[in-house]
Amino acid sequence: MDPSQCLFCGIVTGKIPAKKVYEDEHALAFLDINPRNPGHTLVIPKKHFETILDMGEKDAGKLFESVRKVAAVVMSGTSSQGISIGQSNGQVAGQVVRHVHFHVIPRFANEGPVGLEGALPSKKIDDESMDKIAQAIKTAHAPHSHKEPEQEAKKPDKRHKEDIDFNF
Ligand code: AMP
Ligand code: ZN
Repeated sequence: MDPSQCLFCGIVTGKIPAKKVYEDEHALAFLDINPRNPGHTLVIPKKHFETILDMGEKDAGKLFESVRKVAAVVMSGTSSQGISIGQSNGQVAGQVVRHVHFHVIPRFANEGPVGLEGALPSKKIDDESMDKIAQAIKTAHAPHSHKEPEQEAKKPDKRHKEDIDFNF
């Protein structure tokens, strides 16, 4: 995606208005226009990346440090009792804006302890399948572009994946 067409790049450059709450060298945080709770904040890298898989280790590490700082000030600024952090990669995961963002959502005692289960209920998966899934993940190579060329050249290891149906 061309960053000049990106909504969140527009917020970084100031072309699109936002209620900014935090900024450092690499990251910007502003209120979500459709807040799930008062104080719902989005933390984004100032550089355009579509998903976290497009980020290198350094950029990803710095971003998460900013997320941690924002979580602390959001919690303190809203006097919330907890914080949920959400982050989606890809359309199938529900990512709408194609610029990496972390949702930092203050959570309050009166709303009840709804966690990940509320959004994505747990599934029953038999032990043998769980072993195969674990093996597929353990033996996978990260396929994305920021990896060193020699790593990128390696084909992902599909030995254990072919016999797994992920539609549980
Ligand atoms: P996601 O579904 O994870 O891609 O989340 C995108 C989020 O961006 C949604 O929660 C939107 O409410 C939020 N959003 C979209 N446009 C803006 C905007 N101009 N300023 C602030 N938040 C926005
Ligand atoms: Zn962007």
